[in-house]
Amino acid sequence: MVSMSLLDTRDRPLRDLRISVTDRCNFRCRYCMPREVFGPDYAFLNRAEILTYEEIVRLARVFVELGVEKIRLTGGEPLVRRGLDELIGQLSGIEGLRDLTLTTNGSLLRAQAPRLKAAGLTRITISLDSMDEAVFQRMNDAGVSVATVLDGIDAAAEAGLQPIKINAVVQKGVNDHTIVDLARHFRGSGHIVRFIEFMDVGSTNGWRMNDVVTAREIVERVGAEFPLEPAEANYRGEVAQRWRYTDGGGEIGVIASISQPFCGDCTRARLSAEGELYTCLFASKGQDFRALLRGGASDEELREAVARVWRVRDDRYSEIRTEETAGLRKVEMSHIGG
Ligand code: SAM
Ligand code: SF4
Ligand code: SF4
Repeated sequence: MVSMSLLDTRDRPLRDLRISVTDRCNFRCRYCMPREVFGPDYAFLNRAEILTYEEIVRLARVFVELGVEKIRLTGGEPLVRRGLDELIGQLSGIEGLRDLTLTTNGSLLRAQAPRLKAAGLTRITISLDSMDEAVFQRMNDAGVSVATVLDGIDAAAEAGLQPIKINAVVQKGVNDHTIVDLARHFRGSGHIVRFIEFMDVGSTNGWRMNDVVTAREIVERVGAEFPLEPAEANYRGEVAQRWRYTDGGGEIGVIASISQPFCGDCTRARLSAEGELYTCLFASKGQDFRALLRGGASDEELREAVARVWRVRDDRYSEIRTEETAGLRKVEMSHIGG
């Protein structure tokens, strides 16, 4: 049996697994799946190519045996995959798993939130980039209104999927003039808005360093309206930096992946919908676990294979990013999730 103290070449343990359950989405966010690229002719994965729920659960168990404590389901849009609550039910039964969560665009939550909760989902992250209708619709490019997502957030809260985190990607000149409104809306609600620096994921979103509003600037702008003070991280390696409103109105988070990279504490592996294992969000290549699963590998062989990949992991992309590296071919965000 592979030892539990599995470390990569930079002494980082394997603690988190993000599982993309589909590469499809009902949104076409310009920063993630621009319509010109992800149009009617785009070759999405077919049913036989994506991992079945049984395959996902089997791999998840192997990862938990190797030290993973937290699993996040993502996509594409995870809620477009049928019967997601069945998968959640099976994953939540894995002994040793401490946290099972999900990132969603929120548009399909009203119908699904109670089922997800009943199946064992503990928390949820919902993406909402702006409270301004025109800005939000321009960003999601699918005609989905702010009200629909807000209703999804309410549905999640009513179902008891608390605490709720709200993810907002900030792009200069696109939605940065609306960040204070977003903070204002959720102040005092118990939900935590997390502003994310726009990243050069994939190779289709036309990223430029100039489009990034830094976490520092975000904190300054929100703090100018509602004074903020830094709060302690909940745990080592927490991706978001926490800032608390000094008047007790709750907190916000900022994810400074560009301006203050956190590779040194990165304990995340990512499994794509077709079963490729990636050790970095910005990787160009994954390891094919679907072939192993379907080729009859034993659990021990799967454990060995994951351990082999993790032990040679050397990724620290965000620490060495330049405008040139941003243009390199990398896996798309919709393939491996955020
Ligand atoms: N469809 C779901 C959603 O939007 O929440 C889950 C998948 S999405 C890829 C996961 C997260 O990544 C979302 O919060 C999204 O806003 C974020 N994201 C996507 N592209 C990004 C980019 N270029 N830079 C920063 N965050 C990005
Ligand atoms: Fe879909 Fe999420 Fe990407 Fe938007 S960010 S296109 S909702 S996968
Ligand atoms: Fe982790 Fe790669 Fe992001 Fe660095 S760039 S924090 S190694 S996913």
